[in-house]
Amino acid sequence: MIKQIVFITATILSFGILGYSLLRIYSFLKLTKSHKSGPLGKRISKTLFVALFQTKILRRPVIGVLHALVFWGFIVILFGSLEIIIDGFTGIEKSLSSLGFVYHVISISGDVFSWIILIAICVFFVRRVFLSVKRFEGIEMKRRSHSDANFALSLIFILMVTLIWMNILSSAMNLEEGKLLYPINALFGQFFTSLDHTILLRAYEINWWTHIGVIFLFMNILPYSKHFHVFMSVPNVFFSRTEPLGKLPNMDNITKEVKLMMDPNLAFAAPTEPVSEIERFGVKDVEDVTWKNYMDSLACTQCGRCTASCPANITGKMLSPRKIMIDLRARMKEKAPHILKEGKGYNDNKSLLRDYITTEELWACTTCNACAQECPVNINHPEMIVFMRRFLVMEESAAPTGLNVMFTNIENNGAPWPFSPEDRLLWANDLTTN
Ligand code: SF4
Ligand code: SF4
Repeated sequence: MIKQIVFITATILSFGILGYSLLRIYSFLKLTKSHKSGPLGKRISKTLFVALFQTKILRRPVIGVLHALVFWGFIVILFGSLEIIIDGFTGIEKSLSSLGFVYHVISISGDVFSWIILIAICVFFVRRVFLSVKRFEGIEMKRRSHSDANFALSLIFILMVTLIWMNILSSAMNLEEGKLLYPINALFGQFFTSLDHTILLRAYEINWWTHIGVIFLFMNILPYSKHFHVFMSVPNVFFSRTEPLGKLPNMDNITKEVKLMMDPNLAFAAPTEPVSEIERFGVKDVEDVTWKNYMDSLACTQCGRCTASCPANITGKMLSPRKIMIDLRARMKEKAPHILKEGKGYNDNKSLLRDYITTEELWACTTCNACAQECPVNINHPEMIVFMRRFLVMEESAAPTGLNVMFTNIENNGAPWPFSPEDRLLWANDLTTN
């Protein structure tokens, strides 16, 4: 009974803190602009391919397969965690065993996956700490990014070790049942069957409490770390764009104005509504991004696949698409609490543009979309980059000289070249005279 009371209190406390953290992030999301998602059917199929079948991750044969196995393993092990919580609340051991065959299949899969995940985590750890993987480095990868990753790997390691010991000890206490539910760990469990039942039970309980304690700790660290992608990656893929990557979203108001200019009759057919708030062109700071842009930054795993495939970065330019996401998240974390407290007019004389992301980085982008193509959680960096360039061009007229010349030519000559429209057919003069 005491165990139940302690467990219920710890569970309520952990979920309460998690709820607070998630609500805080939701309140940040509400500060952003709207985003149009594509058709539901297309989004579901994209989620199945990219998130569930891990098609992007699997492009890399060895490390990709390990990552995909960890993802699938976590889905299976989540079922075990759910059972632990129900067990803790009800005081019943293996409370979901009434599911019969399904329970057996999930328990056996969980047993196998616990070892696969443990091995994968060791490989990831060795790779991070002892091998210098280029895509884990970069100006945006601060010391905290690395310690964050190593800490999370350590917690997952403890989770798997305690889970494996729970299955071994459970098998040692009831070998017949162990062989049915945990075929791998029962092999180890048979070496402990001679131990006193009380000792086995105590050891099992120590692992059980450590396991659930680490789950509660981990889930509450996630919203504040890069590992928040554990929660965000699947929804982020679900809400990702369904149009071709190169297609840029137009600004509705500008599109309307242009249409009216082309056909003034439209103004009489559909009179324009009064504008309540002056719209900002493009993105200067976090209030100007869409909720999907902010969600992208929360889903970023900091894996560096985008930066490793970016031609601007590879050729030594300042731009790193991963940095764009890290900066957006950091700026939101810095500014949003003040906006929530002091209202939308809050100004700290800083902005995402320039204080975090420089114009040099933005103009280095070729909008090739390689980053968005490579990103395993379908983050769209070029959209953010183009939105910020829009602000520079439309609000500050701060485009690079070469572009300004082109804009002037389009305005004056109707073409990007410095020639008068009347001279367009001069090239044909010789043809007619000959
Ligand atoms: S944006 Fe995507 S590819 Fe780039 S680091 Fe983040 S998760 Fe990885
Ligand atoms: S779209 Fe821009 S940021 Fe992305 S890979 Fe191409 S150059 Fe780099």
